[in-house]
Amino acid sequence: MSEPKRGNWKRPLRAMTARELGSFLGAVARWKEGREEPVVGRVKESIQDPFAVLVATILSLRTRDAVTSRAFDRLWELAKTPAGLLSIPAEELERAIRPVGFYKTKARSLRAICARLLEHWDGRVPDGLEDLLSLPGVGRKTANLVLIEGFGKEGVCVDTHVHRILNWWGFVRTSSPDETEQELRRILPKRWWMPINSLLVSFGQEVCRPSAPRCPECPLAKRCPYPGKRA
Ligand code: SF4
Repeated sequence: MSEPKRGNWKRPLRAMTARELGSFLGAVARWKEGREEPVVGRVKESIQDPFAVLVATILSLRTRDAVTSRAFDRLWELAKTPAGLLSIPAEELERAIRPVGFYKTKARSLRAICARLLEHWDGRVPDGLEDLLSLPGVGRKTANLVLIEGFGKEGVCVDTHVHRILNWWGFVRTSSPDETEQELRRILPKRWWMPINSLLVSFGQEVCRPSAPRCPECPLAKRCPYPGKRA
């Protein structure tokens, strides 16, 4: 379930500096104050269990937050541990998480992940990037998000919104989220590593949307360098 490649966007001629980006992210942080966290952040706050964060992250891929949230609650009622989840019959597991996107594939991935957690880590979620990436169906976005939200460890999670918006602003010029992550590890000041995903996912879902950005309502409208912004 890797992220799709994107990249046929109009791009600013000039690259955005780290200082300018910091100012933009500060404005987004002020806009976000008092708003609801993306679903994985909410799960982290309410349950504080890396396994819950891992499950919520898998369910959330290519799925709206409201749908993910309900599916997570149904599943969490049935099982709160890898052994518990593995004991759910396959069809019941699919029923519990439907209609999240790719629910059959995700049900298979969740079972395979739980089997591996039991086999290699005594049912615990590992807290290293490479170990997380070795889990079936876990890509870099999921692994980084589990590190950040599940363990409070350093990571750079790049959702499709982060990848798109940073290209629109001209801070990176990349063709995939994985490439954006590598670039951010090189040029993004460390203070933004952990919050950038949560900030830009909320902002990308509600204001700077991929097909119809709400530029007239955007707090960055006057300064935004995106050539495709709306009047
Ligand atoms: S002005 Fe438009 S394109 Fe620029 S950040 Fe705001 S919503 Fe996105």
